[in-house]
Amino acid sequence: MLMENPLFHELKKHLSEIKSIEAVMMLLVWDQQVYLPNGGAVARSRQLAVQAQLAHEKLTAPIIGKLLDDLQSYQINLPYDSDEAGLLRVTRRLYEKAVKVPPAFKARLSAHLSKSYQVWTLARPANDFAAVQPYLEKTLSLSREYAHFFPDYALIADPLIDFKDTGMTVAAIRPFFAELRRQLVPMIKDIREQPLPDNSCLYRTFPTAAQLSFVREVIKNIGFDFERGRQDLSPHPFESLISIGDVRMTTRVQENDLSQTFLDTLHEMGHALYDQGLYPDFEGTPLADSASASVTESQARLWENVIGRSRYFWNYYYPKLQAIFQEQLNSTSLETFYRAINKVQPSLIRIDADEMSYDLHVILRFDFELQLLEGTLAVRDLPEAYRERFKADFGITPPDNRDGVLQDVHWFDGVIGGQFQSYTIGNILSVQFYEAALREHPEILDEIAHGEFSALHNWLKEHIYRHGRKYTTMELIQRVTGKSLTIEPYIRYLRTKYGELYNL
Ligand code: ZN
Repeated sequence: MLMENPLFHELKKHLSEIKSIEAVMMLLVWDQQVYLPNGGAVARSRQLAVQAQLAHEKLTAPIIGKLLDDLQSYQINLPYDSDEAGLLRVTRRLYEKAVKVPPAFKARLSAHLSKSYQVWTLARPANDFAAVQPYLEKTLSLSREYAHFFPDYALIADPLIDFKDTGMTVAAIRPFFAELRRQLVPMIKDIREQPLPDNSCLYRTFPTAAQLSFVREVIKNIGFDFERGRQDLSPHPFESLISIGDVRMTTRVQENDLSQTFLDTLHEMGHALYDQGLYPDFEGTPLADSASASVTESQARLWENVIGRSRYFWNYYYPKLQAIFQEQLNSTSLETFYRAINKVQPSLIRIDADEMSYDLHVILRFDFELQLLEGTLAVRDLPEAYRERFKADFGITPPDNRDGVLQDVHWFDGVIGGQFQSYTIGNILSVQFYEAALREHPEILDEIAHGEFSALHNWLKEHIYRHGRKYTTMELIQRVTGKSLTIEPYIRYLRTKYGELYNL
């Protein structure tokens, strides 16, 4: 751009201040997860609350509204695809969302959720649903109140979904989820009737240092830039964007579980590659972010599952892994290893689920969120409803609430509504995007089989990463694949891969 409109320039100055505050918050959270001693926990929450308040005040300041209004005539003449137009659209959206919610409500919600979280941390190990029930009831009523600040919705979950996935609605998502469930339940039933593959090769002793040096070699080779990012250890792996030149990911290592470190690392690396690939000029603006929770999840799942559990990938990497862990893996063939990391065994816990049954965990929670919000299911009936639905979908009944309805933190430290759909939309999109990449570059598969990832990585940079938050999820899908969201590539992928593994 040659000369910036002075009002636009002023808006960017304000946005850059907000982004700086948010970056400080991200760094505080990163430190909290990686280094912070317990003694600092209370002070850290206070520090974060002050920063959040500051960012909120700056975003909702009247000057932002005025600048956006004054820039409307400028915006009209900008091409829709231009970065300036994108920035104005996204800023308008964030501003309007932020001003609609009274700060007093936000304070009430966050005070309630921090209590609810405290109660949950004790109630879950004690298998005590009754302890959380009143908190969950209050969370539900606050979630409805939250949605009511955005009254133009068709269904009450819509505004809550919109926070994570702008433009997505229940009406758009529900048919995909229903179809996916219809296909998955019988496939999983068929798999359950077969003998389980032996995956004991993953659970021998693999020293921490050797595991870490292997995964670091892999992510470096794929394209994670250690000059503009780091990898550290934390109990719950996560990724955070401090700035486009400072993208951090964490992983965890268990000596007796080889696949966990590896798959967790590839997952977080998927998020990190996205952030490292954002267009550098977006720095300091709200465009320096992923398009949505679903799109960033699609990037994580692409590397974790579609690539990281594929034959192509392990053709190249398994001999290297064997060379590092000679004693542990010498007698295990590539085929045995491949079957082990793709073992399907429906289990109680969502975050430990295999690739095939994972979505059923998500769809179940999505459906319950809708029923709770719409008042067709009462909180007190949730444990029983959960057990019944779980039995119907997975063929097993959770023995208790601890590993049933109490397992996910989401409903206990966040609102009810919009918490889960991104995981499954992310899975659906991971394959829809990957098919588009393969159509354009069929050589990607052969490259991967030779430990080369540049064709795929470059395609992702150009078509997805670069645009940051400029387009909504639906706009991006259309631009990247020439189609709207579709579930067929994902179902075809699962059927082909697991059909071959399990003779379905
Ligand atoms: Zn993720």
